[in-house]
Amino acid sequence: MKALTWHGKRDVRVEEVPDPVIKEPTDAIVRITSTGICGSDLHLYEVLGPFIGEGDVLGHEPMGIVEEVGAEVSHIRPGDRVVIPFNISCGHCHTCAQQLYAQCETTQVRDQGMGAALLGYTKLYGEVPGGQAEYLRVPQAQFGPIKVPEGPPDERFVYLSDVLPTAWQAVQWADIPDGGSVTVFGLGPIGQMAARVARHLGYRVIAVDPVPERIGMARRHGIEVLDAGRVDVAAEAIRDMTKGRGTDSVIDAVGMEAHGSPAAKLAQTVTGLIPDRAAAGLMSRAGVDRLAALNQAIDTVRRGGTISVVGVYGGMADPLPMLRMFDKGITLRMGQAHVKRWIEDLMPLVTDDADPLGTEDLATHRLPLEQAPHGYEIFQKKRDGAIKVLLTP
Ligand code: NAD
Ligand code: ZN
Ligand code: ZN
Repeated sequence: MKALTWHGKRDVRVEEVPDPVIKEPTDAIVRITSTGICGSDLHLYEVLGPFIGEGDVLGHEPMGIVEEVGAEVSHIRPGDRVVIPFNISCGHCHTCAQQLYAQCETTQVRDQGMGAALLGYTKLYGEVPGGQAEYLRVPQAQFGPIKVPEGPPDERFVYLSDVLPTAWQAVQWADIPDGGSVTVFGLGPIGQMAARVARHLGYRVIAVDPVPERIGMARRHGIEVLDAGRVDVAAEAIRDMTKGRGTDSVIDAVGMEAHGSPAAKLAQTVTGLIPDRAAAGLMSRAGVDRLAALNQAIDTVRRGGTISVVGVYGGMADPLPMLRMFDKGITLRMGQAHVKRWIEDLMPLVTDDADPLGTEDLATHRLPLEQAPHGYEIFQKKRDGAIKVLLTP
């Protein structure tokens, strides 16, 4: 089959690789019909090289049709239309029982001290080949795959693999009070959806990004926006909009920003970044302040407020402004999304004819799998108006 494989920094290729086969009675094989490129893939593309094996198959946002199931998989069968959560969880261990699926004890990479295995996230997270491919072996398929109805286009469901539950959890973790307000830093796919979810739940939303097309998309969905390319200090501007207080909550949907993007030059605060041993120093070399968004979030949130960090950071960050965080009494909550935990909340929204979250207005590009390398490039460089790129194997 054809699959998107990693070969080096900014070097991904579509190649012939062996077809996946059932290895465990809890596996399933799925023929992929749509699969997203995510901001998290950009970390592999740009900075996480030391963790990746040449030829690793990437991708963690797939959906498709079940081809084959192992003996212990009974809730889905060949022919079913399914979307696959990006975290691989067993559904029955100590942490899964608490719906902390991203921390599944059955699949976590214990010797590296990491959480649940992830699809397509290399040896960092369990070395499970990913879903930017024609076919995918899904481990723990007795629990993971989510059956979706026939009829509506893939765009309605494909984001249940990651983007929507991640955005939903970001809003839950932000702990916004009734009638309250939230600032969303970053208007990539995650920030777009976090802003839409927060608005859908009735909160005031202000969103910040430097990329005109991304600002335009959020504005189209009724979000108040700040152009980070024009406003010098977002925190000050947001205090001006909120009686001097800042918003009740802030969502950081940026994380470590890929080097070379238009946003990299936005770095405003100088923070040192001490690489951890495993990262072998590479993450600190980009020469940009990878904590720009988090520092702005700390400045922006009102006293006693909550910051929900949904963007992924790597390495060790030092120093965080601990006195400022302590004095303001900030709560910080973060982590990978527990995908399946939020599906019950989201399914009624994605199947609603009115498409309240605008799932059909997120993908700016739909490319054949063969053009995946081009998709990575335009998504990273924010070229050609790329906001969400979906691949069609
Ligand atoms: P993306 O790279 O398209 O989005 C990042 C956005 O942040 C871009 O639009 C960029 O212009 C903007 N930005 C950069 N610096 C900024 C700044 N200082 N202020 C305001 N905006 C700024 O990626 P995405 O797919 O939307 O993902 C966003 C983050 O979420 C990534 O770090 C990704 O790894 C992470 N993520 C986390 C989870 C999870 O489970 N927690 C799941 C999926 C993605
Ligand atoms: Zn993703
Ligand atoms: Zn588990």
